[in-house]
Amino acid sequence: MEGKPLPVALKVIGGDDDGAMYAAHKKIYPREVGGRFQRLRIAAVFWLLGMYYLFPWINWDGRQMVLFDLPARKFYILGLVFWPQDFFFLAALLIVAALSLFFFTAVAGRLWCGFACPQTVWTEVFLWMENWVEGDRNARMRLDKAPMSARKFRLKATKQFLWVTFSLWTGFTFVGFFTPIREFGPSLMNFDVGGWELFWFLFYSLATYGNAGFLREQVCKYMCPYARFQSAMIDKDTLIITYDEARGEPRGARKRAVKGVAERRAAEQGRDAGPGPWNERGPGPGTRDPMEAGDPGLSAAHGR
Ligand code: SF4
Repeated sequence: MEGKPLPVALKVIGGDDDGAMYAAHKKIYPREVGGRFQRLRIAAVFWLLGMYYLFPWINWDGRQMVLFDLPARKFYILGLVFWPQDFFFLAALLIVAALSLFFFTAVAGRLWCGFACPQTVWTEVFLWMENWVEGDRNARMRLDKAPMSARKFRLKATKQFLWVTFSLWTGFTFVGFFTPIREFGPSLMNFDVGGWELFWFLFYSLATYGNAGFLREQVCKYMCPYARFQSAMIDKDTLIITYDEARGEPRGARKRAVKGVAERRAAEQGRDAGPGPWNERGPGPGTRDPMEAGDPGLSAAHGR
């Protein structure tokens, strides 16, 4: 966008002065949040994981609906059969996907990260399990601080059992996209699977368990290539997750004295913020400003 560059002051909070490129992992206890964007996120989780876990089990014209048969070099998708010479379509699809990713990131920020990235989606499910077993944020923090007891052991073991079972099912499903899943199940039970099938089953299970159960945001900070160049796709008008320092701590409804983001920006630019519920003419304290209302990350950050 055209316009005067917006100065952004960077403030390192709790950082090391030694220039270290890695910060030791500190466990994050996310609070459960509600609201429209959270409902959308839950819908996305069910929709995306529903496709992932169900598609290999659905038959179409007497064969698996989605099957990438690498030895036969045939790729079955719905009623279509693709051959290696059809990779042109895959390339076209990937180009469209990449351009869409750039476009939506430029306009609306980290939509992919918030709603569709496998790391987000699986981490969300792992968090649900953690929440079901160990309780809400405060209960989890108390449990982690408490000395080992029969109750703590039971809760931790139950959580690990759910995580491992879910991870193994995820690895099994992954291989089911490349080998007929109805044959792979009995073969696995009889320990009669090929080396590659076994490798990918264990590898994908372990990756799911490690990434969604333990690494979580570390994947975004240190491993994800998309995170490295996201900043090149945004400008001052992009909706991004950020910290509104003027609101300070503790988080909660905005105080009347602290104007909304739109109002403060308008004041900086010497113009009127215009009518709206975020304006002082509106309902007042607690009203969400348009920047915030449009950004699921800010909603999450504010515990809503
Ligand atoms: S930063 Fe990378 S790994 Fe993290 S949510 Fe975004 S796309 Fe996924």
